[in-house]
Amino acid sequence: MSDLGTPENPIRVAVVGSGPAGFYAADFLLRDQRTVQVDMYDRLPTPFGLVRAGVAPDHQKIKAVTKLYDRVAARPGFRFYGNVTLGQHIRAPELADFYHAILYSTGAETDRDLNIPGIDLKNSHTATEFVAWYNGHPDYVHRTFDLSHENVVVVGIGNVAVDVSRILAHTPERLAETDMAPYAEEALRESRVRNIYMLGRRGPAQAAFTVPEVRELGRLEDCSTVTLPEEVELDPLSAQFAEQSDDRTLATKLDIIRSFAHPVDASKSRALTIRFLTSPAEIQGDAEGRVARMKLVHNELVDDGRGGLRASATEFEEWLDVGLVFRSVGYYGVPLPDVPFREDWGIIPNEEGRVVDMDTGRQIAGHYVAGWIKRGPSGVIGTNRPDAKETVEHLVADAVEGKHLFPVRPHPEQVDEEIRGRQSQVVTWEDWQKLDALETARGAEQGRPRVKFTSVEEMLAVMREAGLA
Ligand code: NAP
Repeated sequence: MSDLGTPENPIRVAVVGSGPAGFYAADFLLRDQRTVQVDMYDRLPTPFGLVRAGVAPDHQKIKAVTKLYDRVAARPGFRFYGNVTLGQHIRAPELADFYHAILYSTGAETDRDLNIPGIDLKNSHTATEFVAWYNGHPDYVHRTFDLSHENVVVVGIGNVAVDVSRILAHTPERLAETDMAPYAEEALRESRVRNIYMLGRRGPAQAAFTVPEVRELGRLEDCSTVTLPEEVELDPLSAQFAEQSDDRTLATKLDIIRSFAHPVDASKSRALTIRFLTSPAEIQGDAEGRVARMKLVHNELVDDGRGGLRASATEFEEWLDVGLVFRSVGYYGVPLPDVPFREDWGIIPNEEGRVVDMDTGRQIAGHYVAGWIKRGPSGVIGTNRPDAKETVEHLVADAVEGKHLFPVRPHPEQVDEEIRGRQSQVVTWEDWQKLDALETARGAEQGRPRVKFTSVEEMLAVMREAGLA
């Protein structure tokens, strides 16, 4: 037993990534009966990961979860190091000089591949790019999306596909009430998009979207959401699956999907069609190399041999004229420098949050993971809470048993000095709070929840002006 975790000798933890998983982990660490200190790092000057840059701008209630994270940040022992990039300003092995444990909660920053011919044509994008763009993520501010086309395909029927489709379907008035990046709002105001097609490769019983999200699609102000009667009837295997399923929301989801099986309401200016049992097979371009048509194949469901059903292509095909494609087939983790990475799953290899060596399977003492980089990109924000709890319980138990890193410079000032020596523009929690107040004040002037600053330079300049960073 070590005396680690006492006020004289606190457990010092670096949390890398300030999204929900990082904050839930910090919460459990700082509430532990042992004394723990947390330094949270983020490469951006702003915290909250996908709550800021992923959650749809018209879903402000979901974003209210940041109030809880604010309370975590207010706890003694918490510090924020924004605008500090792992691998650039400090490397993971160097963090071991300062901390007893490092917890990676960097999420899944890129998207899963969709390998079909024509996927790299102009006007074919990942949903993650579009989402980050309309949410004002500094890395995506300069992207452009050609919204001059009437027909848009969104591949996938998860909640991200729903978000993207809904944002494309909203009226300009509705968008003006959100905290969407101003440039995106302007571009969407000029949008000529009229028909949005969401493509589900499997049937309604396997749809990845959740009930509140799909229900919302039936309540859009000026967009008629429909499904095709022939595609919402369950095949025998799905009907059996639905009957035996212990997912109590499934019957409701199926009812909603069936309730959309009517003709398009022509009084609305846009239409959203949710297709099932349909996969994109190929995209063809026009003379300028821009998306022009998509070949769709119709699928049937077959036993996948693992207790589920998978899509299998039939000989039926159709072509759809389309000018813009978003693929929304799931997020994917990116490797961190000097940290093990499982390429096939897009995660840091781990056992219940303890990072393990790829070759030996043995635990790498002092290294932990939480959130999507631990388990893959699934679940809602709240899923990260029990996930982080599991990791933190192991971290603290290991620290108490002496299975931790042995920092040679453990005093909080030592790492502070080191980081500031390498990055002169560290953003503290106080800096962020000021920026946050400025954003919400700008929003209030326009009757919006906030107007975001969308470039790092702008954020830092604003903080400098306010006598911060
Ligand atoms: P997701 O839920 O995993 O959905 C991915 C979709 O892509 C599924 O429909 C999947 O179909 C489809 N797909 C995968 N590979 C495909 C392929 N090769 N061809 C055609 N379709 C393919 O992922 P997500 O939408 O990115 O969401 C990630 C997580 O964030 C989810 O847990 C989601 O619930 C959560 N989220 C929540 C909210 C919210 O609560 N409002 C908002 C956004 C995201 P199969 O099912 O057939 O694989």
